[in-house]
Amino acid sequence: MSDYDSIVIGAGFAGAVVARELAERGGEQVLVLDERDHIGGNCYDAADKHGILIHCYGPHIFHTNIERVYKYLSRFTEWFDYRHEVVAKVGDKEIPVPFNLNTLKMVFGSEADELADLLIERFGADARVPILELKKADDPRLKKIADYVYQNIFLKYTMKQWGKSPEEIDPAVSGRVPVVLSKDDRYFQDTYQGMPRDGYTALFEKLLDHPGIRVKLGTNASDLLEFAPGTITPIYWRGEVFEGKVIFTGAIDELFDCRYGRLPYRSLRFDFEYFDRDVFQSHGVVNYTVSEDFTRITEFKYLTGETDKSGTTIVREYPFAYTGAEGEIPYYAINNAENDALYEKYKKLASECGLTLLGRLAEYKYYNIDAIVDRALDVALELMDE
Ligand code: FAD
Ligand code: UDP
Repeated sequence: MSDYDSIVIGAGFAGAVVARELAERGGEQVLVLDERDHIGGNCYDAADKHGILIHCYGPHIFHTNIERVYKYLSRFTEWFDYRHEVVAKVGDKEIPVPFNLNTLKMVFGSEADELADLLIERFGADARVPILELKKADDPRLKKIADYVYQNIFLKYTMKQWGKSPEEIDPAVSGRVPVVLSKDDRYFQDTYQGMPRDGYTALFEKLLDHPGIRVKLGTNASDLLEFAPGTITPIYWRGEVFEGKVIFTGAIDELFDCRYGRLPYRSLRFDFEYFDRDVFQSHGVVNYTVSEDFTRITEFKYLTGETDKSGTTIVREYPFAYTGAEGEIPYYAINNAENDALYEKYKKLASECGLTLLGRLAEYKYYNIDAIVDRALDVALELMDE
């Protein structure tokens, strides 16, 4: 008999929230495993050698319209009231992204008011219009706006990020950054937004701090568990049948040794650089939408509120196709009909083992933090009902 009621694989938001719920509400003994030597998954942050708090796996800004998610996370952190604004570097100009009525003014000058009226007449005030929708407009004046936005904001950035044009990727992806028919320069329009005041890792420490939870780091699940799809006693723990629940939040193809082939992902290389000066750039994030090999530069002190610190650290992001080589990390599922069909085969295998799949990798889905926390709260409830 095992000492645990449930084993959760992965200590990111998916794993940590489900573990907390099973332990706190379900009264379970929960083991959380993570192959990394830290908790927090991709939201992990830590001070660099200059004492500046950085996000080790790329910039993470919390934003949500889901009240229960905001309330839930607020149990484990206070918030730094951060207003995230992004600009795109186009030539020697920096223009607000998402493209909005302020951007329109900067780009089209005296013509902008007339164009704004036209956009609002066509789509409505405050509308959020995906670029691929705007591109369909017949009116040549709307077409002119669409062409500018497509060429200067989307085409090259998307080619760098995905290795494909906006038309070739899931439309929901470019739709995340629509043309916004308002003068709101914020990147996100959600009701709640901000940064954990003491950082994400501190939030995770509290989330996982429960007498029913034990965390074991530096441990790949495959070293402790055996999965035998299609058998009646599918999961083995230390050589014995494990009767409890197993929740997996990692890459599902890799758990099964890619037996049907690899699920495609995009990865990123993060290049951090420290500067012995107070400020590097004008905004927390500057997107390079027409030039450079990297997609964006983040300057952390804007995001974390450490603006009183001297010195500053930035990160540049270089996207590439994930190959599964040692040290690479899969960050983004590439959703299309073919890849989603391959994912379904792995999902079937997981279900034959009695595994619960949860998270951005395990569900092969583009989840933001709030969406995965919301999903983890639901999944925990479902598991407790079983
Ligand atoms: P993860 O955080 O990836 O956690 C999975 C964990 O499982 C990892 O720690 C991994 O080590 C572990 N694991 C995997 N396989 C195994 C195994 N076999 N054995 C043991 N452990 C294993 N969301 C926002 O809301 N706002 C943002 O600004 C934002 N920015 C982002 C920027 C980037 C560059 C990326 C890539 C994502 C961003 N996101 C953002 C999304 C956010 O990162 C995810 O929503 C969140 O991290 C998902 O949590 P998760 O638990 O599903 O996955
Ligand atoms: N995008 C773009 N230019 C930008 C910002 C975004 O082309 O300046 C596209 C790009 O394809 C990107 C997608 O919109 O992958 C979604 O952007 P978001 O900022 O939501 O991506 P994230 O970094 O959060 O995954």
